Amino acid sequence: MSKFNINQFICRSDNYGVIISDKNTGLTASIDAPDAEMIDQELKKNDLKLTHIFITHKHLDHIEGIDYLKDKYGCIVIGPEKEKEEIPLLDITVIDEEYIDFSGSPIKIIETPGHTLGHIIYHFEQDNLLFAGDTLFLMGCGRVFEGTHEQMYKSLEKIKKLPPNTTIYCGHEYSIANAKFVASILPDNSNIKKRLDEIKSLRDQNKQTLPTLLDDELITNPFLMSDNSVLKRKLDMNNAKEEEIFSELRTRKDNF
Ligand code: ZN
Ligand code: FE
Repeated sequence: MSKFNINQFICRSDNYGVIISDKNTGLTASIDAPDAEMIDQELKKNDLKLTHIFITHKHLDHIEGIDYLKDKYGCIVIGPEKEKEEIPLLDITVIDEEYIDFSGSPIKIIETPGHTLGHIIYHFEQDNLLFAGDTLFLMGCGRVFEGTHEQMYKSLEKIKKLPPNTTIYCGHEYSIANAKFVASILPDNSNIKKRLDEIKSLRDQNKQTLPTLLDDELITNPFLMSDNSVLKRKLDMNNAKEEEIFSELRTRKDNF
């Protein structure tokens, strides 16, 4: 049994809010601050006081609620050193491979440049949890706005190396669009077909599709499957390097 309660909700149309709290100590963190009002509502509903905010990157849909929440709760705001000029009210900035402690749980910071250059993700090592922001999505990955495709490829390689039983929380509910794209590339893959059906049925009932398990991503997320021979063949890139496969996929998804 995990010592944490995790409460996930959709806000701002397709952003995910996530609140993680220690059942015993009451320490409570929000992953990013997409929507102050919704986060506050969820805190109240569960009788929680916000003690921390963990910011993944500087985009407005991840930081807009900081001002309000910090003012109301006086919480500690942690975020990437490389984006400190663009994120308001940071108390602590962190860099690659640095560890921070949350309620006795070691969290490893992993820099994942690509979506933005300073993007970080939070790996709760003991608890097998990853908060991936806009770097990885269910059957997808973030758009490469600032970095190069090669940088994003390397960032995803870091996620691939985490334990397969890692539970992954992401910044957005993009699963349907992602799964449709993946099914268009690998229409004969039964794992992908099955997952597309599951996602459709969940979204039809207005249910959340996240979190996801790394183990499932490794066999259904093509952005983590650049070494897959069927994928290479489907792209007509049998002899291409893995980062070239990734880049081709990212370009196709951008135009899908
Ligand atoms: Zn973003
Ligand atoms: Fe976002």
